[in-house]
Amino acid sequence: MRTSLPAELLQTADGKQLDEILRKCVHCGFCNATCPTYQLTGDELDGPRGRIYLIKNYFENSCDKSTARKHLDRCLTCLSCETTCPSNVRYGDLLDIGRKHICDGSGRPILNKIKRYTIASVFSKPRSSALIFALAQFFKPLLPEKLAKKIPQDTGAIKTNAVVTGSRKMLTIRGCVQFSAAPQINAAAAQVLGDADIQLDESESDCCGALAFHLTEIESAYKTIRKNIDDWYQRLKSEHEFLIVTSSGCSSFVKKYGAIMRPDPQYAQRAEFIAKNCRDLSEICTDLHIKPAFRKRTIAFHNPCTLQHNQQITSTVETTIQKAGYTFVPVSNRHLCCGSAGSYSLLETELSHQLLTNKIHDLTKAEPDMIATANIGCLMHLQSGTDIPVKHWIELLV
Ligand code: SF4
Ligand code: SF4
Repeated sequence: MRTSLPAELLQTADGKQLDEILRKCVHCGFCNATCPTYQLTGDELDGPRGRIYLIKNYFENSCDKSTARKHLDRCLTCLSCETTCPSNVRYGDLLDIGRKHICDGSGRPILNKIKRYTIASVFSKPRSSALIFALAQFFKPLLPEKLAKKIPQDTGAIKTNAVVTGSRKMLTIRGCVQFSAAPQINAAAAQVLGDADIQLDESESDCCGALAFHLTEIESAYKTIRKNIDDWYQRLKSEHEFLIVTSSGCSSFVKKYGAIMRPDPQYAQRAEFIAKNCRDLSEICTDLHIKPAFRKRTIAFHNPCTLQHNQQITSTVETTIQKAGYTFVPVSNRHLCCGSAGSYSLLETELSHQLLTNKIHDLTKAEPDMIATANIGCLMHLQSGTDIPVKHWIELLV
């Protein structure tokens, strides 16, 4: 694709990256075929190729900000398009730059701004999200059914896991929403790794920063990332082998720390080190000896976009779960997003709900006993659409 970005933009790091990525796109449109939002609306601007043009046109001054923002907001950041693209266009990096300039607060309707700020502030801290879940649980009978079904059962349950000792040591992050909504996930991870002589220590950090970053609360995200780097770097240098992240949305984001912090000379090198030493829980579990057992339950697995597209981890979880004796049922349209996508289900409710309905249909068609996934956002979102229990896959191993 030919570009004519302004000269002053091309002097900046963002401008150089934009130009390099845009030039790789040959506008073939293959990516539209696997884009969940394009499939729903059929609108070119709700597909990756249209969004690439919107970003290009915005920076070349031929597209207004509100049009570009509307369609970038509707993007799930699922990266299904990136997996499909034959020209290796780094759509995710392009979107990050586009959103930083186009989807910031300026020009947004005030109510939308407040909503985004509130989501980023409340749900990035376990104590405030626990409080919200506890209040929601209390008022559940008064809430609309769709909203009520999103509330986790075990609300407000902030617990500290008992330390399981082991001769190898790894570090983990508690997580913001996960810590308050499903603390049993980290507890199960500690138990499974403990059985393999790995001690999983929880760091004090609550949030990886992804929520704020994707809501373009960039300064708040940087603050969280710097705090995490200060907390994790020495521990990973000295006593802990890896940073293990149990939610795929967070592991995919921590792996981006190096790229995000590259312009910050004080943090760049340490961020790169952390990104290189971060592992999604599924990556560690493939090498462990999992005790086989005969289990009668059948599982439908939803591989989150942050695992299959973002980290290109496609069959690891299934292999591990199969080793433990579970049977999988076939699921169609596995590449498509469930509509959770971080805060997407709270902001783009209509599209998110349609994606959820389609996903639940695909997951439950073969009547599994249980649905498993690898990301807390997907887990809560899927559970809001079905009465079949939805679990993090690590819970199936304890
Ligand atoms: S992003 Fe890739 S698949 Fe999509 S239009 Fe560009 S080159 Fe084609
Ligand atoms: S990230 Fe997902 S929703 Fe966004 S353009 Fe790509 S495929 Fe479509």
